[in-house]
Amino acid sequence: TTVNYPTEFKGFAITDPKQWDNPKLTSYQPKNFGSHDIDIEIECCGICASELFSLKNDWSDAPLNCLSSKYGPKSQVVGHEIVGKIVAIGNDVTMYKIGQRVGLGAQAYSCLNCSRCKSNNEQYCPHAVGTYCSTYSDGYVSQGGYASHVRALDHFCFPIPDNLDSKFVGPLMCGGLTVFSPIKRNIQGIVNPKVAIIGIGGLGHMAIMIANALGAEVTAFSRGNSKKDDALKMGAHHFVATSEDKNWMTNYIDSFDLILNCASSTKALQLNDLLPCLKVNKKFLSVGLPHKDEEFDLKPIQFFSNGCTIGSSKLGSREEAIELLSLASKYDIKPWIQEIPICENGVHEGLTKLDNGDVKYRFVLTDFHRFFNT
Ligand code: NDP
Ligand code: ZN
Repeated sequence: TTVNYPTEFKGFAITDPKQWDNPKLTSYQPKNFGSHDIDIEIECCGICASELFSLKNDWSDAPLNCLSSKYGPKSQVVGHEIVGKIVAIGNDVTMYKIGQRVGLGAQAYSCLNCSRCKSNNEQYCPHAVGTYCSTYSDGYVSQGGYASHVRALDHFCFPIPDNLDSKFVGPLMCGGLTVFSPIKRNIQGIVNPKVAIIGIGGLGHMAIMIANALGAEVTAFSRGNSKKDDALKMGAHHFVATSEDKNWMTNYIDSFDLILNCASSTKALQLNDLLPCLKVNKKFLSVGLPHKDEEFDLKPIQFFSNGCTIGSSKLGSREEAIELLSLASKYDIKPWIQEIPICENGVHEGLTKLDNGDVKYRFVLTDFHRFFNT
């Protein structure tokens, strides 16, 4: 079932990681339309740091996937904090109607059949396909949301409560969900949970608001003091500037039920000092995914005294996305965004400023209908 829309999508693409900051307007063929697929006419899309790593090809030793794709574009469009309106649905889609507003995050497909998918862990499905830069079983490389349209499995498109403004929902679809999932999973059932958030960028600032809304006492860790006032306004109860308060560690030993690392680099991460700040048997989880050559600087003796655990977390499930949207609707959670009307220059500006850490705290590309005439 379709309404009028082009058989080709338009988006801002690169073909060479050296040109990562200069995506150019291109037209491309979408993936084959599956019976459970949905086409979204995009209204706005956040800019996540993962896109910088992907465009620069910093997570991989192989060339960009799209260059060797079996069919579809030989160029790459990124974007995975998407909000828009459904303009086409596959024959087997029953959960949505054309015209409905939905969000799509960093995952566009999973098998929905394996034990992980069946236990609300579809983000860890071995057959998961990301919304961009990710290869489907038929060889098509997924194309993201700096575009007129995007195609994804119905399961990964989430209905948005009417009282939420699209531009504030975009960042929740990847960044918000990525921090909601580990916070929710690790503080559930704890009375007065204490959570530390490290790296106050796109993910970190949403983590402060979400942990606060979930009832946690929140301590924000940043490298310097420049984000202190903002972090307190976002809902942090305490603030630590790790490069300035040299004795911060003594104040926080045995304090946290969860430490969530949202920093995009491990260079300033003082893991040996952070781990003793966990209570017994609690977790340090990293959602931050740095350049492939970076490592944790970690002395095993430092995490011996409290039986703590070091781990990771990836995105979130559909169930968690829907929970997060209802939390945002109830507590009026609004990411701090800076809007940029989409166009070649706008995409360039957003990517380069994010790369320079010059963002407060999430860029959202907007005005898609005007640019794409949709
Ligand atoms: P941002 O750039 O918005 O924020 C990253 C923050 O990390 C900065 O604000 C800064 O915090 C800190 N930081 C930046 N540079 C350095 C450095 N050189 N050394 C130490 N800290 C630094 O990025 P996002 O929030 O968009 O993304 C954060 C990370 O999360 C990325 O690695 C991204 O790829 C990853 N990610 C992971 C997902 C998952 O599923 N696990 C999903 C989405 C993103 P401060 O100034 O406060 O120190
Ligand atoms: Zn992301």
